[in-house]
Amino acid sequence: MGPSIHPRTIQEVKEKADIVDVISEHIVLKKKGKEFVGICPFHDDTKPSMTVSPNKQFYYCFSCGAGGNSIKFLMEFTRSNFSDVVLLLAKKNNINIETLEGPQQDAYKKQLSRREELYKILRVAKNWFKSQLNNSLGKEALNYLLSQRNLNSKIINDFELGFAPNSWNDLFNYLSKVEKYPLNLITSSGLAISKDNSDKFYDRFRNRLIVPIHDMQGRVVAFGGRSLDGQEPKYLNSPESEIFEKGRMLFAFEKASNTIRKLDKAVVVEGYFDVISLHSKGITNSVASLGTALNKYQISQLCRFTDNKNIILNFDSDNAGLLAAKRVVKEVESLSLNDQINLKILQLKKFKDPDEYLNSHTPKDYSNLLDNASFWIDWEIDQIFENKDLTKSENFQNVISLLVKLLSKLPQSSTRTHYLQKVSERLSMGQARLAIQFEQDLRNQVKGFRWHGRSKKFEQPSEISQREKNESEIIFYYLHCPNLRIFIRNELLKREIDDFNTEYIRIIWKAISTIEENNLGLNYFNKIKNSDSQKLNKDFSDINLISLLPDYLAQNNSESLNKINIFINPNELFLTMLKSPKHNLLGTLSLIERYKSLKRCRHLIESWGSQRLKTLENCISILIDNSISSPSDSNREIDDLFKDLNSDAIKFQELYYLERQHISFLDKQRCGNFIAS
Ligand SMILES: [Zn+2]
Repeated sequence: MGPSIHPRTIQEVKEKADIVDVISEHIVLKKKGKEFVGICPFHDDTKPSMTVSPNKQFYYCFSCGAGGNSIKFLMEFTRSNFSDVVLLLAKKNNINIETLEGPQQDAYKKQLSRREELYKILRVAKNWFKSQLNNSLGKEALNYLLSQRNLNSKIINDFELGFAPNSWNDLFNYLSKVEKYPLNLITSSGLAISKDNSDKFYDRFRNRLIVPIHDMQGRVVAFGGRSLDGQEPKYLNSPESEIFEKGRMLFAFEKASNTIRKLDKAVVVEGYFDVISLHSKGITNSVASLGTALNKYQISQLCRFTDNKNIILNFDSDNAGLLAAKRVVKEVESLSLNDQINLKILQLKKFKDPDEYLNSHTPKDYSNLLDNASFWIDWEIDQIFENKDLTKSENFQNVISLLVKLLSKLPQSSTRTHYLQKVSERLSMGQARLAIQFEQDLRNQVKGFRWHGRSKKFEQPSEISQREKNESEIIFYYLHCPNLRIFIRNELLKREIDDFNTEYIRIIWKAISTIEENNLGLNYFNKIKNSDSQKLNKDFSDINLISLLPDYLAQNNSESLNKINIFINPNELFLTMLKSPKHNLLGTLSLIERYKSLKRCRHLIESWGSQRLKTLENCISILIDNSISSPSDSNREIDDLFKDLNSDAIKFQELYYLERQHISFLDKQRCGNFIAS
């Protein structure tokens, strides 16, 4: 329980805590007319459904109905109680807090003063580190900053850099003996650690360059230390505390925010020294995360200062940096897809990081690179093509499926078209006619993928495992009954089962097709179907898939390799299925086809419902518009409109009926086989 707050304080908080300020600290808000919109954090939102009105000081989600003032938002978002939120907002807005007299008042005052004490001890430590850098012990460290990092004394001062000497407890002694701080405050500040919980204490930072980390108010909340003698870890941070939460801070944000606002863009790099180096060269809109992956919260913090939400990532060019960039792209994907942020990525291929780049280039060069950084989708597309020899079929297939997956996420068809054309040109390697063909083909695949994603929701969870089992059976028969392979392929074709639902089955099936293609050439199945050649038939069933498949997967798709074991070395259950393979197979195939029909049924029912509603709405609005005309006219109109409504219903009914009929046919087929075996 928090303290009872005086109504005067609550009133002042309500007046001063602006709703746009409060909400945009947690989610990205974009201006739209007089209001702001953002992705709602209270339901699984895919497009911005939340509106925030600065005039009314009110937020509202059109999708889930969440709404209220800034206090309500924070209560729900941070799951805190009323008084905690009011206190937090009061502190942020420099409002004098008055509490009602009571027993909690003392506790609250204590908590407040403890935070103040923490700020104070960190400030004292910062000054001590600074003085160490400037005395004889810090000579080497200072030299490192001046000559190896090319920093001047102005920037060293601006960033308040310091030095922790190579001693066990110099700082601890200073804080406890000279400044007379209590032990528990020294340990909770993270500056000293007690040895095995004894009364022996040693300094956390030893023989390290010290970089203070400030909050937005410019107060030191933690330190980062870089080792100077190769000691691991290279970078060491203060532990989290009441005033320091790593995932909520950005390094140098308090210095960068003004320029971010002025230039309308923020640059995020990986290390402290990259930031310091950039600031020293006048690129003062740069920040870094604190040894953790950049998260959504930090991105929204940055977005508060840029109207057009321009964020540029310039991570290290090693593998770790690449992975970090990919992680950020994924983390904020829904924001990027909905144009809530404008994310760009700069990769300095030949240089390790911005610091190294600036050693041999001017700040202007770097700014130019920033201006020309790739938009995130272009960057992802580059990543897909990177180092892939497209003349190899498996590379080509892989690139296509990654592209389809990426492009199908784009919500706007005009953007999709733009990128479809772009990648098709790239795939065709300059051959215009091919490009057109690729584009058409990709467009169909993307369409299929989007549809597939949507119809997933018509699938029920219990069906999925059952379906996986059925699909595995097909693979099993295909491998172990070579004489049934033609039969299986024909049945799949006849039943229009052109894809499997389970991902690893899909991979295995594709591998089988590729192996067959490698042995018999392209279009081998058409050749087999259209000729009576015994030889071709024999060659087809002679392919030793049981030995070729594991090798192929080992080379091309090692993750699915362990999935193949059950098919190669079947257990008892699978072996019993070999007794009457053809009958079992027909049953399994009917089941798989049945899923498809069921899904279509559910889909039809849903479309029918929504279509009916839409038509009804239409009818009503026409009737209202025409209500002035003569009654006999509108009677006739009502009749006509309802005829329309019914004809739609009949259409859906028919389709639904056909599908149901087919399902009962499949059931008969399945059970008939069951009895026959
Ligand atoms: Zn919502």
